Order: sequence, then structure tokens, then C-alpha cells
Amino acid sequence: MAQRVIIPRLGQTMTEGTVAKWLAAQDQRVNAGDPVYELEYDKATAVVEAKKSGIFKRLAEEGAKAAVGETVGVILEEGEKLEDILSQKTFTVANSAKAASGSLYTQPEPEKKEAPKAAYTPPASFKCTGDCPRNKPANSTDTIVIGGGPGGYVAALRLALLGAKVTLVEKDTLGGTCLNRGCIPTKALLQSAEMYTACLQAAEFGVKAEQVSFDYSVVCTRRKKTVDALVGGVKGLLKARKVEVISGEAAFEGPHTINVKLSDGTEKKLTADNIIIASGSVPAKPPIPGLDGKNVITSDEALVLESIPESMVIIGGGVIGMELAMVFSSFNCTVTVVEALPEILPGIDGEIAKNYRRIAAKRMAIYSGAAVASVTDAGDAKCVLFNKEGNEQKIEAQYVLVATGRRPETAALQLGAAGIKAERGRITVDDKWRTNIAGVYCIGDANGKTMLAHAASAQGIDAADLIMGHTPDAKRHRVIPACIYTDPEIASVGRTEEQLKNEGMDYKASKFSFRANGRALTLGKAEGFVKILSDKVHNEVLGVHIMGPNATELIGECALAMRMECCLEELAETIHAHPTLGEAVMEAAEAGLFGAIHSL
Ligand SMILES: Cc1cc2nc3c(=O)[nH]c(=O)nc-3n(C[C@H](O)[C@H](O)[C@H](O)COP(=O)(O)OP(=O)(O)OC[C@H]3O[C@@H](n4cnc5c(N)ncnc54)[C@H](O)[C@@H]3O)c2cc1C
Repeated sequence: MAQRVIIPRLGQTMTEGTVAKWLAAQDQRVNAGDPVYELEYDKATAVVEAKKSGIFKRLAEEGAKAAVGETVGVILEEGEKLEDILSQKTFTVANSAKAASGSLYTQPEPEKKEAPKAAYTPPASFKCTGDCPRNKPANSTDTIVIGGGPGGYVAALRLALLGAKVTLVEKDTLGGTCLNRGCIPTKALLQSAEMYTACLQAAEFGVKAEQVSFDYSVVCTRRKKTVDALVGGVKGLLKARKVEVISGEAAFEGPHTINVKLSDGTEKKLTADNIIIASGSVPAKPPIPGLDGKNVITSDEALVLESIPESMVIIGGGVIGMELAMVFSSFNCTVTVVEALPEILPGIDGEIAKNYRRIAAKRMAIYSGAAVASVTDAGDAKCVLFNKEGNEQKIEAQYVLVATGRRPETAALQLGAAGIKAERGRITVDDKWRTNIAGVYCIGDANGKTMLAHAASAQGIDAADLIMGHTPDAKRHRVIPACIYTDPEIASVGRTEEQLKNEGMDYKASKFSFRANGRALTLGKAEGFVKILSDKVHNEVLGVHIMGPNATELIGECALAMRMECCLEELAETIHAHPTLGEAVMEAAEAGLFGAIHSL
């Protein structure tokens, strides 16, 4: 079968390459391993070799630019004809390589048109601080931010730092989902759970902790205090930076006008040249009969339960479901997780998900590949009916927690009044978070791109910078770490093995177990490993996946390595302090080069 010669992906941020020089002549017989062409990409060059033997045909001219994965040549087997290959539906030559003239050679990409600029002229200086004295009509402000979560409040603070006049509208509590119903309350509860588990295991460390028990009301008080402290901090920062905070629900009346239903029942109109939508998301419930009944809750209610239920079925084994399963199972609740997909933690590296499931299954029952059909009442309890491999099964529990994902909260915004485009509630944005309406941006969960707090904040900073006349680096959004605060913790950055396989990438995986890491053993937390995925040509780091102690902190180093386009050598050669968990990252990199010192 004919073999395509493509533009291979040779780096994390590589999107296109140039055929700098053909090294194989047209119709030349090439052998596997023979040089075919010199590729220029991201200011580097590499030689692309033939993967099999045959007759080589060029499909692009020297100097042609094409996207990663596009076909620029083909190696034919004995008896194969180029015309036959090209006429096959499955054999597609890159669009850009099919020039308008009908030749197969690549043409330069048409120049992209910039989105229409907002009428607003931003201040020239990046460093301007304090009030920007502008002659604006009453109720007019430089920028309105809708929503005070980690996207909105960070955008407002950045704008204020750069000198803009900012009004932030929040209908509920500053801090949004993250501080009030998400990241922070879950981690406060998980910390209490970890402390309780540690006390139960104290004897292993030579510590006598007898009659260990917990008081869940104190756990809740601590959760609330932590949340209140952080919400207070956000309020203080906004006040100090002179951001006007309006308490109420915003809805568009036109592209640059919003109406706010104030908390006291009155209304207020606001106009601004720039508006950042940061309205976040809410729990989504699938259309399963019975999910509106009593004792069927979402993460919002689960986080404020005042006592630990005896039993709970969690529908959905994603990140939120598994973190809450960890909280409740640690406090002696009998937890059953029912996940529709073949494995829990979908989207996470498959090897990590499988290993974590083995560990978690010691604390809870897990059914995957199991679709819930209905939830009904069974006396005081709830009955969850699901189908696994064609068999109907039932589980009864005191509570049912629905953790099947979240949907953008955009319905109340009346997007139609401003002509803002959205698809299934997700506001459509470009890579700079601009909507189709000039001067209107959408960041965070509301655009549904990456539903994580730090992604929302980074998007908020970008939108603020853009409004103030600075072009953010869109590339940084290719490296976004993700963390799961289970026991052991899980953290990842970059692509998974499954993604790399789908992309046809030539990669290698190198691992180091925490069982061979001194610090992990002293902590009594030796379960897990660091896995680094790197490309075979340059050893560039393409993804890091960690399950183990403090994985959520270790991933920071890996994210930086990926942002700096580091190769295994840089991670392996960086001297890490001893004894630290970070040494496991260094040794996983060594394992991909010449072998890790502490592993056979
Ligand atoms: C249980 C749970 C745990 C999580 N844990 C993590 C984690 O560990 N790490 C992580 O990165 N992410 C985590 N997340 C996700 C994270 O919370 C969200 O990605 C993040 O909060 C999104 O930020 P945002 O600013 O886009 O929206 P939000 O935080 O949802 O804030 C939006 C704000 O806009 C307000 N609003 C909405 N509509 C209007 C309107 N019309 N007018 C005025 N105000 C409005 C809302 O009241 C809200 O305060 C978790 C989520 C949940 C549910």
C-alpha cells in the first residue's frame, strides 16, 4: 500500500512546517530510512525519512508550507500508479496542497482577516495605573465584567491594575463556583477526610491515636471558614483596586448595554465599550427519570450536607464524582459509583485511570459501562436502576448524587438581544476569547472550552490585556495542567497516550515508581508513578501524567517544562533536592534517556 509522506508533529506547539528541501528526487526508488526531505518548523530543521521502500513522488514544491499531518509526498509500491492513489477517497492531499490552479502544489495560506476592532481606543501604556480620567456619560464604564468567579474577578483586577474603570456585576457571591461551590469547599472537606484517615493509620507511624472519631459539624465549620476567608480576600482586593461591584443579575439589552436586576428589586442600566462575560456554569442533569426527586442532589448540595449519609450512589465517575466519592467514603458512607463510559475518569490517561480505579475500589463499589435508567423511591431510600452488559441491576442508597458534568450558565443573559452567538449555551469565541460582537468577550466555563478555574483566570487576564491594547500569547493555553485531589492524587499536563496514538505520533513513555522514591517512602505514600510521554526524535516532553503523593504540586514543574518546550534532558539534568518527590519526575525523564539511577 502507498505510504504517505507527511508533515510530522515534532514538537508540542508545532502546527505547521515547510518542505525546505527535497532530498529524494521525483520517481527515485527510496528505501526505508532514506532521507526524503528537509523540514523547517518553529525555527528548527529536521530530516524526514522514508518509512518504507518504493518509488517516491513529490506532491508539493520546495518552500511549500503545510499543516501537521498533511501529505506532501507519497511512496508507491511496485505496480501502484499515482493517479489511482490520488483518486481514492481515503487518500486526501492537504487542501492547501491542492492549489487553485489545479496543480497539487501548496499555495501560501490566504491572509487571515482580523476581527473588527472595537470602537474603544485603549490607553497606549501597558503600565498605566489608577483611574483613567475619561469623559464618560453617567452609568458608562470602560469595561463591565459579568460574573465574579475566578474568570471574572481576576479579569476585573487585571483591568484595574492596568488603569481601566471596571464594573463587576455578580448575582450571587463573589468567588463564583470555585470559591463557594467548587474547588475550595471540596478541598477543605478532602483535607478533613485525609486528616481523619491519617489518624486511623497513625499506629503505622508509631503514633497512638485511640478512639479516633470525627465531628462533621466541625468539618463543615472549617469548610465555611476557609471559603469565607477567601471570599473576603477577593472583596478586599476589588475594593482596594477601586472595582465597582454591583450585586444583581445582568442581561443584555444591546451589544454594549446591560440591564441589572439589583438585589433590592430595582433595575439599573449600564453601558460599556467592552463587556467580559464570565457567567460560569451550573450542574447539568441528564434526562434520566427521577432525578428531580427528594434526596437526589448535585455537587452544590453535597458540599453543604450537614451530616454524612449512610449510603450514596454517585452517578458519574468523572473528576467531581470521584473527589466527592473520596470525601464521603472516607467518612464511612457506603459509596457506589455508576459511570456510563467504559472507565472512570474519562479524558485522563488510561493507565492512570485504570490504576486509580484499582485503588479506589478498596473504598467504594465502582460500576463502569453502566447506564442509569431511572431513580425511584424505595421507602425512605432511593433506588438506582442501571444496565450493565445487558443486565439490569439495582442499588438502594439514602442519597443519589448526580455528577454528570456542568453546563454554561448563559440562559439569563439574553444573548439574543446583543446578537451574541452561542452553541448549546456555550458562547462562541475565537482564540482571544472574542465573541462575534466587537468589544464583547467571553471567558471561563461560559465558553465551555476548558472548564477549570485556572483556565478561566488565564482567559480573564488575556481578555483584560487585549482590551488594554496588548496581544496575549494564545499559545500558552496549549499547556493547561489538570488536577484531581483523590488519594492518591492525580495530575496531568499535555497529551495522553490515547491522544498521541490517535494522532499517529511516534512517542515513547518513560516511568518512575514512587516505590523507589525516598521521600514517598518516608511519607508512607509510595503508591503511584510519574509517566512522561516524549517524542522519539527530539525527546520533547509531550505529556506528563502523575498519580501519587502531592501530584497536584509536582505538575507545576512539568507544566513549566512543557511551556518552555523542554526535552527529557532538561528535566533529567536539572538537579532536584533530595529527598523530594520531584526526584521522581527527574528519574522518569532519565528513564526515557539512558535509564533511571534508582530503577532496574
Ligand atoms: C465540585 C467542584 C469542584 C471543582 N474543583 C476544581 C478544582 O479543583 N480545580 C479547578 O480548576 N476547577 C475546579 N472546578 C471547576 C471550577 O470551579 C470552574 O471551572 C470555575 O469556577 C469557572 O470559573 P468561571 O469564573 O468561569 O465561573 P464561575 O466560577 O461559575 O463564576 C461565575 C459567576 O457568575 C455569576 N453569574 C452567572 N450569571 C450571571 C448574571 N447573569 N449576572 C451576574 N452574575 C452572574 C455566578 O453567580 C457566578 O458567581 C470545580 C467545580 C466543581 C463544581
